[in-house]
Amino acid sequence: MSRIAIGHINPDTDTVCSPIAYSWFLSEKLGLSTTPKIAGALNKETLFVLKKFGIPTPEILKNFTVNDEVVLLDTNNPEELIEGIESAKLVEVVDHHKLVGGLHTSDPVKITMKPIACTATVVWQIMNDSKVLDLPKEIAGIMLCAILSDTLKFTSPTTTDEDKKAAEELADICGENVEELSAQMFEAKSDLSGMTTKDILTVDSKIFEMGDKKVKISVLETTKPNNALTMKEDLAIEMSKMKLEDKVDHIFFFVIDILKSEASLLATSDDEKALAEKAFDKSFEGDFLILPGVVSRKKQIVPALEKVVVGN
Ligand code: MN
Ligand code: MN
Repeated sequence: MSRIAIGHINPDTDTVCSPIAYSWFLSEKLGLSTTPKIAGALNKETLFVLKKFGIPTPEILKNFTVNDEVVLLDTNNPEELIEGIESAKLVEVVDHHKLVGGLHTSDPVKITMKPIACTATVVWQIMNDSKVLDLPKEIAGIMLCAILSDTLKFTSPTTTDEDKKAAEELADICGENVEELSAQMFEAKSDLSGMTTKDILTVDSKIFEMGDKKVKISVLETTKPNNALTMKEDLAIEMSKMKLEDKVDHIFFFVIDILKSEASLLATSDDEKALAEKAFDKSFEGDFLILPGVVSRKKQIVPALEKVVVGN
Protein backbone atom coordinates (compact mmCIF):
# COMPACT_ATOMS: atom_id res chain seq x y z
CA MET A 1 0.00 0.00 0.00
CA SER A 2 1.13 3.55 -0.62
CA ARG A 3 -0.38 6.49 1.20
CA ILE A 4 -1.27 9.53 -0.86
CA ALA A 5 -2.76 12.91 -0.01
CA ILE A 6 -4.84 14.57 -2.70
CA GLY A 7 -7.58 17.16 -3.28
CA HIS A 8 -10.22 17.86 -5.92
CA ILE A 9 -10.16 18.08 -9.72
CA ASN A 10 -9.73 21.54 -11.31
CA PRO A 11 -7.09 22.09 -8.62
CA ASP A 12 -6.86 25.42 -6.79
CA THR A 13 -4.09 26.59 -4.48
CA ASP A 14 -5.64 25.16 -1.30
CA THR A 15 -6.29 21.75 -2.84
CA VAL A 16 -2.65 21.50 -3.98
CA CYS A 17 -0.85 23.10 -1.03
CA SER A 18 -2.80 21.51 1.83
CA PRO A 19 -1.94 17.94 0.69
CA ILE A 20 1.74 18.95 0.36
CA ALA A 21 1.77 20.45 3.87
CA TYR A 22 -0.21 17.60 5.41
CA SER A 23 2.05 15.01 3.74
CA TRP A 24 5.05 16.73 5.35
CA PHE A 25 3.33 16.53 8.74
CA LEU A 26 2.23 12.89 8.38
CA SER A 27 5.63 11.77 7.05
CA GLU A 28 7.99 13.82 9.20
CA LYS A 29 6.04 14.09 12.44
CA LEU A 30 3.82 11.01 12.60
CA GLY A 31 6.07 8.59 10.70
CA LEU A 32 3.31 7.83 8.17
CA SER A 33 5.08 8.08 4.83
CA THR A 34 2.70 10.03 2.58
CA THR A 35 3.10 11.45 -0.94
CA PRO A 36 1.13 14.49 -2.13
CA LYS A 37 -0.52 14.18 -5.55
CA ILE A 38 -2.71 16.44 -7.67
CA ALA A 39 -5.91 15.71 -9.57
CA GLY A 40 -5.12 17.84 -12.63
CA ALA A 41 -2.82 20.52 -14.01
CA LEU A 42 -1.96 23.53 -11.85
CA ASN A 43 -3.55 26.93 -12.44
CA LYS A 44 -1.30 29.97 -12.83
CA GLU A 45 -1.71 31.13 -9.24
CA THR A 46 -0.66 27.75 -7.84
CA LEU A 47 2.23 27.50 -10.33
CA PHE A 48 3.48 30.85 -9.02
CA VAL A 49 3.10 29.74 -5.38
CA LEU A 50 5.04 26.48 -5.76
CA LYS A 51 7.77 28.18 -7.79
CA LYS A 52 8.11 31.02 -5.29
CA PHE A 53 8.65 28.63 -2.40
CA GLY A 54 10.75 26.14 -4.38
CA ILE A 55 8.33 23.25 -3.96
CA PRO A 56 8.27 20.66 -6.77
CA THR A 57 4.93 20.15 -8.53
CA PRO A 58 3.33 16.93 -7.29
CA GLU A 59 2.62 14.21 -9.80
CA ILE A 60 -0.81 14.22 -11.45
CA LEU A 61 -2.77 11.12 -10.45
CA LYS A 62 -5.19 9.86 -13.12
CA ASN A 63 -7.11 7.34 -11.02
CA PHE A 64 -7.00 5.56 -7.67
CA THR A 65 -6.10 1.87 -7.43
CA VAL A 66 -6.59 -0.87 -4.83
CA ASN A 67 -3.05 -0.18 -3.64
CA ASP A 68 -3.80 3.38 -2.57
CA GLU A 69 -4.43 4.57 0.97
CA VAL A 70 -6.05 7.95 0.45
CA VAL A 71 -6.00 11.07 2.60
CA LEU A 72 -8.54 13.42 1.04
CA LEU A 73 -8.21 17.17 1.53
CA ASP A 74 -10.35 20.16 0.51
CA THR A 75 -13.30 18.06 -0.68
CA ASN A 76 -15.61 15.28 0.48
CA ASN A 77 -17.51 15.16 -2.79
CA PRO A 78 -17.14 11.96 -4.85
CA GLU A 79 -18.10 14.00 -7.96
CA GLU A 80 -14.96 16.11 -7.53
CA LEU A 81 -12.53 13.20 -7.34
CA ILE A 82 -10.50 11.37 -9.95
CA GLU A 83 -11.88 7.91 -10.81
CA GLY A 84 -11.64 4.85 -8.62
CA ILE A 85 -12.11 6.07 -5.04
CA GLU A 86 -14.38 3.07 -4.37
CA SER A 87 -11.49 0.66 -5.01
CA ALA A 88 -8.99 2.59 -2.86
CA LYS A 89 -8.77 2.66 0.92
CA LEU A 90 -9.92 6.04 2.20
CA VAL A 91 -8.21 6.64 5.55
CA GLU A 92 -8.76 10.32 6.36
CA VAL A 93 -10.63 13.46 5.27
CA VAL A 94 -9.62 17.06 6.09
CA ASP A 95 -12.03 19.59 4.63
CA HIS A 96 -14.04 22.80 4.95
CA HIS A 97 -16.96 22.16 2.58
CA LYS A 98 -20.48 21.04 3.27
CA LEU A 99 -20.91 17.30 3.72
CA VAL A 100 -22.48 15.94 0.54
CA GLY A 101 -22.35 12.20 1.26
CA GLY A 102 -21.54 9.37 -1.12
CA LEU A 103 -18.15 8.25 0.21
CA HIS A 104 -18.00 4.77 1.74
CA THR A 105 -15.23 3.09 3.72
CA SER A 106 -14.60 -0.44 4.97
CA ASP A 107 -13.06 0.78 8.24
CA PRO A 108 -13.56 3.76 10.53
CA VAL A 109 -11.78 6.89 9.28
CA LYS A 110 -10.53 10.11 10.80
CA ILE A 111 -12.50 13.12 9.62
CA THR A 112 -11.67 16.75 10.45
CA MET A 113 -14.08 19.24 8.96
CA LYS A 114 -14.67 22.82 10.05
CA PRO A 115 -16.87 25.66 8.77
CA ILE A 116 -13.93 27.96 8.05
CA ALA A 117 -12.44 29.43 4.87
CA CYS A 118 -9.56 27.11 4.07
CA THR A 119 -8.30 23.54 4.47
CA ALA A 120 -4.81 24.86 5.19
CA THR A 121 -6.21 26.51 8.34
CA VAL A 122 -7.56 23.13 9.47
CA VAL A 123 -4.18 21.53 8.69
CA TRP A 124 -2.39 24.23 10.71
CA GLN A 125 -4.73 23.60 13.65
CA ILE A 126 -4.06 19.84 13.48
CA MET A 127 -0.32 20.57 13.53
CA ASN A 128 -0.82 22.89 16.52
CA ASP A 129 -2.80 20.23 18.38
CA SER A 130 0.25 17.97 17.95
CA LYS A 131 2.53 20.80 19.15
CA VAL A 132 4.23 20.96 15.77
CA LEU A 133 5.38 24.52 15.19
CA ASP A 134 8.78 23.92 13.58
CA LEU A 135 7.59 23.58 10.04
CA PRO A 136 9.93 24.61 7.23
CA LYS A 137 9.50 28.16 5.91
CA GLU A 138 8.41 26.94 2.48
CA ILE A 139 5.63 24.78 3.95
CA ALA A 140 4.41 27.72 6.05
CA GLY A 141 4.60 29.86 2.91
CA ILE A 142 2.40 27.66 0.75
CA MET A 143 -0.11 27.23 3.59
CA LEU A 144 -0.30 31.01 3.94
CA CYS A 145 -0.88 31.27 0.17
CA ALA A 146 -3.72 28.73 0.38
CA ILE A 147 -5.43 30.87 3.02
CA LEU A 148 -4.90 34.10 1.05
CA SER A 149 -6.30 32.37 -2.03
CA ASP A 150 -9.41 30.85 -0.43
CA THR A 151 -10.20 34.06 1.51
CA LEU A 152 -9.26 36.44 -1.34
CA LYS A 153 -6.96 38.10 1.19
CA PHE A 154 -9.59 38.00 3.95
CA THR A 155 -12.24 39.79 1.86
CA SER A 156 -14.46 36.76 1.27
CA PRO A 157 -17.39 36.40 3.71
CA THR A 158 -16.19 32.83 4.32
CA THR A 159 -13.21 34.26 6.25
CA THR A 160 -13.17 33.52 9.99
CA ASP A 161 -10.97 34.71 12.85
CA GLU A 162 -9.41 31.24 12.83
CA ASP A 163 -8.23 31.76 9.23
CA LYS A 164 -6.82 35.19 10.06
CA LYS A 165 -5.00 33.86 13.12
CA ALA A 166 -3.53 30.95 11.15
CA ALA A 167 -2.40 33.30 8.37
CA GLU A 168 -0.72 35.63 10.87
CA GLU A 169 1.14 32.78 12.52
CA LEU A 170 2.20 31.27 9.19
CA ALA A 171 3.33 34.68 7.90
CA ASP A 172 5.53 35.00 11.00
CA ILE A 173 7.14 31.63 10.30
CA CYS A 174 7.81 32.21 6.59
CA GLY A 175 8.60 35.90 6.98
CA GLU A 176 6.42 36.99 4.06
CA ASN A 177 4.54 40.25 3.72
CA VAL A 178 0.88 39.37 3.24
CA GLU A 179 0.09 42.42 1.06
CA GLU A 180 2.97 41.80 -1.34
CA LEU A 181 2.43 38.08 -1.48
CA SER A 182 -1.26 38.35 -2.28
CA ALA A 183 -0.64 41.03 -4.89
CA GLN A 184 1.82 38.68 -6.61
CA MET A 185 -0.59 35.74 -6.40
CA PHE A 186 -3.52 37.71 -7.78
CA GLU A 187 -1.35 39.08 -10.57
CA ALA A 188 -0.42 35.50 -11.55
CA LYS A 189 -4.05 34.41 -11.31
CA SER A 190 -5.20 37.28 -13.55
CA ASP A 191 -2.91 36.37 -16.44
CA LEU A 192 -5.12 34.72 -19.07
CA SER A 193 -2.48 34.56 -21.78
CA GLY A 194 -2.36 31.24 -23.58
CA MET A 195 -5.72 30.19 -22.15
CA THR A 196 -8.67 29.14 -24.33
CA THR A 197 -12.23 30.12 -23.43
CA LYS A 198 -12.65 26.55 -22.21
CA ASP A 199 -9.61 26.91 -19.94
CA ILE A 200 -11.03 30.14 -18.53
CA LEU A 201 -14.39 28.53 -17.86
CA THR A 202 -12.89 25.49 -16.14
CA VAL A 203 -10.18 27.08 -14.01
CA ASP A 204 -12.64 27.02 -11.10
CA SER A 205 -15.80 25.20 -12.04
CA LYS A 206 -18.18 22.99 -10.08
CA ILE A 207 -21.46 21.23 -10.85
CA PHE A 208 -24.17 21.45 -8.21
CA GLU A 209 -27.34 19.40 -7.84
CA MET A 210 -30.18 21.77 -7.09
CA GLY A 211 -33.41 19.84 -6.67
CA ASP A 212 -33.68 17.78 -9.86
CA LYS A 213 -31.48 20.21 -11.81
CA LYS A 214 -27.74 20.17 -12.47
CA VAL A 215 -26.15 23.60 -12.44
CA LYS A 216 -22.59 24.35 -13.50
CA ILE A 217 -21.11 27.41 -11.82
CA SER A 218 -17.76 28.66 -13.09
CA VAL A 219 -15.86 31.39 -11.33
CA LEU A 220 -12.86 33.47 -12.39
CA GLU A 221 -11.19 35.48 -9.64
CA THR A 222 -9.12 38.28 -11.13
CA THR A 223 -7.72 41.75 -10.63
CA LYS A 224 -8.23 42.41 -14.36
CA PRO A 225 -11.88 41.52 -15.08
CA ASN A 226 -11.80 43.16 -18.52
CA ASN A 227 -9.37 40.52 -19.78
CA ALA A 228 -12.27 38.07 -19.53
CA LEU A 229 -15.31 40.34 -19.94
CA THR A 230 -14.18 41.51 -23.38
CA MET A 231 -14.27 37.86 -24.50
CA LYS A 232 -17.99 37.59 -23.73
CA GLU A 233 -19.12 36.44 -27.21
CA ASP A 234 -16.60 33.61 -27.37
CA LEU A 235 -17.22 32.68 -23.74
CA ALA A 236 -20.97 32.50 -24.39
CA ILE A 237 -20.44 30.15 -27.35
CA GLU A 238 -18.23 27.90 -25.22
CA MET A 239 -20.76 27.97 -22.35
CA SER A 240 -23.57 26.78 -24.63
CA LYS A 241 -21.31 23.97 -25.85
CA MET A 242 -20.35 22.99 -22.29
CA LYS A 243 -23.98 22.85 -21.24
CA LEU A 244 -24.59 20.07 -23.77
CA GLU A 245 -21.28 18.27 -23.17
CA ASP A 246 -21.63 18.25 -19.38
CA LYS A 247 -25.37 17.47 -19.59
CA VAL A 248 -26.24 20.26 -17.16
CA ASP A 249 -29.50 22.21 -17.07
CA HIS A 250 -27.92 25.59 -16.45
CA ILE A 251 -24.51 27.21 -16.66
CA PHE A 252 -23.40 30.49 -15.08
CA PHE A 253 -20.05 32.26 -15.27
CA PHE A 254 -19.02 34.77 -12.60
CA VAL A 255 -16.03 37.04 -13.18
CA ILE A 256 -15.01 38.18 -9.71
CA ASP A 257 -13.11 41.43 -9.39
CA ILE A 258 -10.90 40.78 -6.35
CA LEU A 259 -9.97 44.45 -5.90
CA LYS A 260 -13.51 45.82 -6.15
CA SER A 261 -15.18 42.85 -4.42
CA GLU A 262 -17.73 42.64 -7.20
CA ALA A 263 -18.99 39.92 -9.53
CA SER A 264 -20.08 40.23 -13.16
CA LEU A 265 -22.32 37.37 -14.19
CA LEU A 266 -22.53 36.12 -17.74
CA ALA A 267 -25.54 33.93 -18.63
CA THR A 268 -26.32 32.72 -22.12
CA SER A 269 -30.08 32.05 -22.30
CA ASP A 270 -33.13 34.17 -21.42
CA ASP A 271 -34.15 31.42 -19.04
CA GLU A 272 -30.86 31.64 -17.14
CA LYS A 273 -30.88 35.42 -17.16
CA ALA A 274 -34.35 35.38 -15.59
CA LEU A 275 -33.20 32.90 -12.91
CA ALA A 276 -30.17 35.05 -12.08
CA GLU A 277 -32.21 38.27 -11.91
CA LYS A 278 -34.60 36.60 -9.52
CA ALA A 279 -31.80 35.07 -7.44
CA PHE A 280 -29.94 38.33 -6.93
CA ASP A 281 -32.88 40.73 -7.22
CA LYS A 282 -31.11 42.83 -9.86
CA SER A 283 -31.39 43.41 -13.60
CA PHE A 284 -28.89 42.71 -16.36
CA GLU A 285 -27.09 45.77 -17.70
CA GLY A 286 -26.35 44.69 -21.24
CA ASP A 287 -24.68 41.29 -21.16
CA PHE A 288 -23.79 41.27 -17.48
CA LEU A 289 -25.49 41.19 -14.15
CA ILE A 290 -23.27 43.33 -11.91
CA LEU A 291 -23.24 42.15 -8.30
CA PRO A 292 -21.38 44.45 -5.87
CA GLY A 293 -20.09 42.63 -2.79
CA VAL A 294 -20.53 39.16 -4.28
CA VAL A 295 -17.27 37.16 -4.18
CA SER A 296 -18.03 33.76 -2.66
CA ARG A 297 -19.59 30.91 -4.62
CA LYS A 298 -20.03 28.89 -1.44
CA LYS A 299 -21.63 31.55 0.75
CA GLN A 300 -23.33 33.91 -1.70
CA ILE A 301 -23.74 32.49 -5.21
CA VAL A 302 -24.86 28.90 -4.62
CA PRO A 303 -27.43 29.67 -1.87
CA ALA A 304 -29.03 32.47 -3.97
CA LEU A 305 -29.24 30.40 -7.15
CA GLU A 306 -30.35 27.27 -5.33
CA LYS A 307 -33.37 29.04 -3.90
CA VAL A 308 -34.73 30.03 -7.32
CA VAL A 309 -33.67 26.92 -9.24
CA VAL A 310 -35.30 24.58 -6.71
CA GLY A 311 -38.34 26.84 -6.35
CA ASN A 312 -38.88 27.03 -10.10
MN1 MN B 1 -10.60 24.04 -3.29
MN1 MN C 1 -10.35 25.19 0.10
